[in-house]
Amino acid sequence: MADESKSTSPSARQPAAMEKLVSLCAARGFIFASSEIYGGINGFWDYGPLGVELKNNLKALWWQRMVREHSDVVGIDTSIIAHPRIWEASGHVDNFSDPMVDCRACKKRFRADQLDDAGPCPSREGTSEHDLTEVKNFNLMLETQIGASADATQAAYLRPETCQSLFIDFKRVREAARQKIPFGIAQIGKAFRNEITPRNFTFRSREFEQAEMEFFCHPSEREKWFEFWRAERLQFHRDIGLSDDRIRNRPHEPNELAHYAKVAVDVEFEFPFGWQEIEGIHDRGDWDLTQHTKYSGKDLALTDEATKEKYTPMVIETSMGVDRTCLALLCNALDEEVLEDGETRTVMRLHPAIAPVKVAILPLSKKLSEDARKVDASLRKHWNVFYDESGNIGRRYRRQDEVGTPFCVTYDFDSRDDHKVTVRERDSMRQDRVLIDGLVDYLRDALGFGT
Ligand code: ATP
Repeated sequence: MADESKSTSPSARQPAAMEKLVSLCAARGFIFASSEIYGGINGFWDYGPLGVELKNNLKALWWQRMVREHSDVVGIDTSIIAHPRIWEASGHVDNFSDPMVDCRACKKRFRADQLDDAGPCPSREGTSEHDLTEVKNFNLMLETQIGASADATQAAYLRPETCQSLFIDFKRVREAARQKIPFGIAQIGKAFRNEITPRNFTFRSREFEQAEMEFFCHPSEREKWFEFWRAERLQFHRDIGLSDDRIRNRPHEPNELAHYAKVAVDVEFEFPFGWQEIEGIHDRGDWDLTQHTKYSGKDLALTDEATKEKYTPMVIETSMGVDRTCLALLCNALDEEVLEDGETRTVMRLHPAIAPVKVAILPLSKKLSEDARKVDASLRKHWNVFYDESGNIGRRYRRQDEVGTPFCVTYDFDSRDDHKVTVRERDSMRQDRVLIDGLVDYLRDALGFGT
């Protein structure tokens, strides 16, 4: 086995730089620009073989925690395009906009509230200041047309958030799932926003995924449920491996609150570009159900069977950005460590539940591939496994470290006789000799929660 003695000094660990992460993500197939061979398209990203596994792991953990583990939460999956009146009722047609300015000289467009990031104007003589237009409101919804013939088309919107259909479907889902107040409806899906300045890799994209849950409760219980979901959501981010000192709850100031919100708390992560929101927990009150009652003409209020009280439920929302949380997980995990021999090891310290590949099978020589393939096949039934038989074993370990694979299994020339393999753990680089017959149990134990 390769010598992997390491320095344990924390000072040897380097903070991850954003540029390093972006290039590693592209090179190793986590995330790269959409439409790359055409020069990319601003605000759109593709997830490669490792990225899709990581994202699916996050979504599955969220679904497990939010839907399966709560008998009073049910999941749905709704269409991306919905009746355009929904967006009038929700206030998006009138209010879902950011303040925008254009530079008359360089033609660049900026968010009026983010001019500190605009940089110098490259097109003016004698000054580097932009020649800015008046502030205009720019609606972030992306429009499309539906209907096959040109004269019968109708304008529609790609949803800017996944939650509206949770309100629209509220009554049907409650009845179909035989739920009583309090209960929640959850969904994971794509959302689209024509962001003025997409930036910071996937952090602000024009197409992204949200994992949202709306919890409907009696008005007298809204504070209790807000507190419950606030604590629950913060704990989730801890459980999937975000470091305690890099996540926090930040309550919204009264002047930041959305017009419908009574209270709101963000879950923020400390990215290399600063503390930023990855999830919002909002008390939306009865705003949405009341608006949709008004616009659709269908009463979404309920009558309490016991007391005969008629009321519109209050709604507590938890809204996680899937892509932002993936980015937070990658930023949190990327680490550099100087080993005792002076070599620098790049290691992605992802929680095993999030890691795209759980186990890599690395035969010491191609001559051993037939037997190693058998071990590989036996593990594939349980986890996402990667098989690699080419190149020096030390370099193969490094490649797995870089993408966060928690365990490497090496099949060597002794394995045929002692029916054992060497299992090497990513973070400690500790190596154990394990019986092939007991390998699944060993790994199941070692991988732990969520795998
Ligand atoms: P921001 O203020 O950063 O634009 P927001 O407050 O508008 O975010 P919400 O409408 O509360 O965001 O959406 C809930 C979650 O969806 C956010 O916490 C974020 O993780 C994610 N999200 C929102 N906009 C984007 C985007 N453009 N790209 C990626 N994720 C996004």
